[in-house]
Amino acid sequence: MQTSETTQQDSPDSSELSDLPQSSNGRGSLYVVATPIGNLDDVSDRMRHILSSVSKIAAEDTRRTKRLLSHINVNTPCFSLHDHNERQKLDYIVQLLTQGDSIALVSDAGTPLISDPGYPLVNRVRNEGLAVIPVPGPCALISALSVAGLPSDRFLFEGFLPAKASARQSYLTALAEETGTLIFYESSHRIKQSLADMQLAFGENRHIVIARELTKTFETILTGSVVELIEILDQDHNQSKGEFVVLVHGAEKKQSDLTPESRKLARLLNEHLPGKQAAKITAEMYGEKKNRIYQYLLEDNEQ
Ligand code: SAM
Repeated sequence: MQTSETTQQDSPDSSELSDLPQSSNGRGSLYVVATPIGNLDDVSDRMRHILSSVSKIAAEDTRRTKRLLSHINVNTPCFSLHDHNERQKLDYIVQLLTQGDSIALVSDAGTPLISDPGYPLVNRVRNEGLAVIPVPGPCALISALSVAGLPSDRFLFEGFLPAKASARQSYLTALAEETGTLIFYESSHRIKQSLADMQLAFGENRHIVIARELTKTFETILTGSVVELIEILDQDHNQSKGEFVVLVHGAEKKQSDLTPESRKLARLLNEHLPGKQAAKITAEMYGEKKNRIYQYLLEDNEQ
């Protein structure tokens, strides 16, 4: 087991933000810093502070990051770290950290590593026993989920779907029975095709939410059945422009998903109590959905 420690500041007000937290062994830390997904007002004080205090910033696209840095008056030097050079840069970054330099990792937008570069770096730095510190902030999937009105207790983030049509269709078909909310990233040139594939895989009535251009001027949240959303995009071409998070309501749980214990308790209670009450108590006991249990009792009583 490997651990690394840093002394965190509890609640940094701006007067306390002059130094980075010191690592316990004089080595630098890797800060994984989330940046805005469209609205530059989402820059936090802590993000600005960390970006201005580290020795260097590893950026997915240095030109893009420099625009952000100039907006927030930070002039820390940047170097590039993207999918195609990440592995070559690992030794260099570990060396900087070991000699006491702290580094920030940023991607083009949102949280690094979330459909973005950074996993090999974070993995390596942790394996070296060096500190990796999150600086949380915007993330398109979490922003979309927070406003979608879909169940958020269980969700499965799938990132981008495969580019090839046949691979995409079989990928979606394999997800058809998943009961948690499904979340995908999508681009303007494939959004319509992906919706058509979802119609095939999940049926016409599956409820879908499309979160487009979050935090930007043309932010739009569309909700409806997959068929309704395809129609909206067909009628209004502007709705296919920009960046998208697509969220899909999970599949309904099947009756047989109820555990034998919950079915037994529900039936027993239903001998003395109304079905709704029996379902409510059983749901509380076993953490099941009360509507599913109620439905089960109705069907059981019909037999
Ligand atoms: N790391 C980023 C994050 O934390 O969300 C995601 C990077 S991924 C390369 C880019 C994809 O994220 C876009 O194609 C889109 O699907 C989604 N995305 C990013 N910004 C968005 C926004 N403002 N509105 C909707 N979707 C967005």
